[in-house]
Amino acid sequence: MPELAAQSPASTQPLGIFGGAFDPLHYGHLRLAEEACKVLRLSEVRWVPSGQPPHRATLSATVEQRLAMLRLGIAGNPCFSLDESETLSTAPSYSVPTLERLRAQFGAQRPLVLLLGVDAFLGLRSWHRWQELFELAHLAVATRPGFSLDAERLEPPLAAEFRGRQVQAAEKLAETLAGCILVFPITALAISATALRATFKAGGSARYLLPDPVLDYIAAHHIYNS
Ligand code: ATP
Repeated sequence: MPELAAQSPASTQPLGIFGGAFDPLHYGHLRLAEEACKVLRLSEVRWVPSGQPPHRATLSATVEQRLAMLRLGIAGNPCFSLDESETLSTAPSYSVPTLERLRAQFGAQRPLVLLLGVDAFLGLRSWHRWQELFELAHLAVATRPGFSLDAERLEPPLAAEFRGRQVQAAEKLAETLAGCILVFPITALAISATALRATFKAGGSARYLLPDPVLDYIAAHHIYNS
């Protein structure tokens, strides 16, 4: 019965949402999602690959290829699921409408936690309607080699949000539906999709930086000039 389901503890467990281009998916992404799932006690991490991202003129792999790589990479993890909504839409991919849709889908019972790396958080002010993000979800910011989050060095509007919203304990994310910012450390992996694309282009080895099935797919489909 839907009424009972809405009241069960599982339905109030926070839901993770992890957006990105994933061009290609790599172990930096996978560890972020895995560690977030455990440390933040998320019921699920929903991977939301972008359609045509507003911040990037072109992507190297097609939408279908990025989806295929994600399916291969997240297969077998019961905490992970794929949300294709942004890739199916012809509208530019923005996080606020995606979160609005998920909020409508899950109702007012379920905390939503937007997962992102420090580099993405530092650029938050360039996101469409960025201040509305806090009305819809918590932000959980994962550490990333090469980027540091120093409140003193953030631009004033972002610094103000950060100071007012930062929490230290993951449990806080289950207490309210949205509005907190939590920074959480993850295993440091200096892997980036940009560097991987350059490696493929140069004919180098990307082995052990991303899952073998994804590597095999890239080779078989001659993506990134591999
Ligand atoms: P690119 O180099 O093309 O910008 P990327 O490797 O940063 O790609 P994205 O798909 O842009 O990958 O990233 C999706 C999300 O994953 C972002 O929030 C980003 O901060 C985070 N992320 C990516 N790689 C890492 C990593 N190695 N450690 C921590 N977070 C990461």
